[in-house]
Amino acid sequence: MSVARKPITPKPPRTREKVLVILQEQCKQCGLCIEFCPKNVLCYTDIYNRKGYHPVTACDIDACVNCEFCERICPDMAIFLAERDEAKKAYEEGAIEKGTVIPEFDAESKEESQ
Ligand code: SF4
Ligand code: SF4
Repeated sequence: MSVARKPITPKPPRTREKVLVILQEQCKQCGLCIEFCPKNVLCYTDIYNRKGYHPVTACDIDACVNCEFCERICPDMAIFLAERDEAKKAYEEGAIEKGTVIPEFDAESKEESQ
């Protein structure tokens, strides 16, 4: 029997199939998505939307597991998961409406510009 330990190989980074999209103008700051997110991904922003609420954003988008709880629980359909390729194309073409955020892509473009 071999006593040699198996090499410890790090797990490859998990790739999420979908990306989180937040329609910040539709958010009414009810907090349900924040409460029900199992990974504590979501938090409030400091900005005000046109309804006078602080809309949700992702404070830890890397922790998102695509579980869709936020999408299911939001009473205003202000947060959902979208197909990555489709969302990326729209994002790169600037076809994203004002007030719509895709935290994962925002984080990537921030990193690229540094
Ligand atoms: S998909 Fe799941 S893990 Fe990701 S933000 Fe929504 S509730 Fe949280
Ligand atoms: S559940 Fe919807 S409306 Fe409520 S805080 Fe989250 S995104 Fe905003």
